[in-house]
Amino acid sequence: MGRYTEIYCRDCRRIIGRYNAKYYSEARIGEIIRTCHAQHVKEGHSIEQRQAGDAGAHGAA
Ligand SMILES: [Zn+2]
Repeated sequence: MGRYTEIYCRDCRRIIGRYNAKYYSEARIGEIIRTCHAQHVKEGHSIEQRQAGDAGAHGAA
């Protein structure tokens, strides 16, 4: 299965978005944060991108 990039807001303490890493580049994710999740940015929240994927659950790289 695929890997995906999670957009996590430290201030809200939740994942605000999850995108398939295959289709969304890091630059694209940055764009999404600025548009779709602009409210968090506006409020000065600390947002981070983190890599996730079900491959890890099976012990694969
Ligand atoms: Zn937030």
